[in-house]
Amino acid sequence: MNVSEAARLLAICCGFDNRQPSELAAQAWAAALKNVPFDQDAKDAVVRYYSTTPKDPTTRLWIMPHHVRDLRSKIRSERLENFAYEGDPDETPKEFIARYRGQLEAVASGAVPAPSTAPMLEGGPHRSMAELLSGSVRHPDEPDGPEPRPTVERRATGPLGVICPDCNAAIGRPCKSAWRRKPRAPHPARRRAAAGEEIRLTPQAEVDARRALAATHHAQADEVTELNRAFLEANPVVIPKEKP
Ligand SMILES: [Zn+2]
Repeated sequence: MNVSEAARLLAICCGFDNRQPSELAAQAWAAALKNVPFDQDAKDAVVRYYSTTPKDPTTRLWIMPHHVRDLRSKIRSERLENFAYEGDPDETPKEFIARYRGQLEAVASGAVPAPSTAPMLEGGPHRSMAELLSGSVRHPDEPDGPEPRPTVERRATGPLGVICPDCNAAIGRPCKSAWRRKPRAPHPARRRAAAGEEIRLTPQAEVDARRALAATHHAQADEVTELNRAFLEANPVVIPKEKP
């Protein structure tokens, strides 16, 4: 922000703390907030500063430029809590970077409403479930012995409920981008498969899927393995006939 914008921001502060407006203060704030734009989030940062109870209620609140910077970035990152990149499976790394930055900025600035629910691609199971699956927690009155296999109560629904025909992501696991193998939104083919279309894996994809399944099967008896096993049993993979 420039000096006149800093003066306007200080005018908002003045409404809360009765500080005396001065040209010198505007210049100092403009210098300290040179790379912080004078936008609604900057104004909201001042409002949030003065509407938040300090740790010590007897402290007299007096906002400084670093408060504006920190609170503005907090306001923006709150909008990104449920951010999930919407990519294109065929995008180039350059397109990915441009789109990713564009989508990030659109959500952070509030231009595009932030998703209200957590993306289904983020994170693993809840900690308590992960502990249960790993066998590291034991019920107090449970006798020592082999950990009972957790029962699978329901299948994952939506695109994550099927193996991705595109990137071979296992059931319950997010799709991986072609670039860097980062979690991404489900591939269109996976959405179609989840909607009931016949799943066609290439022979190599089928081999990969079964190999991944075998690997996890030996590694740990977890819910995903069980889901994959049940899925492959119930949905025999259709392998396109190769031309002779
Ligand atoms: Zn995929």
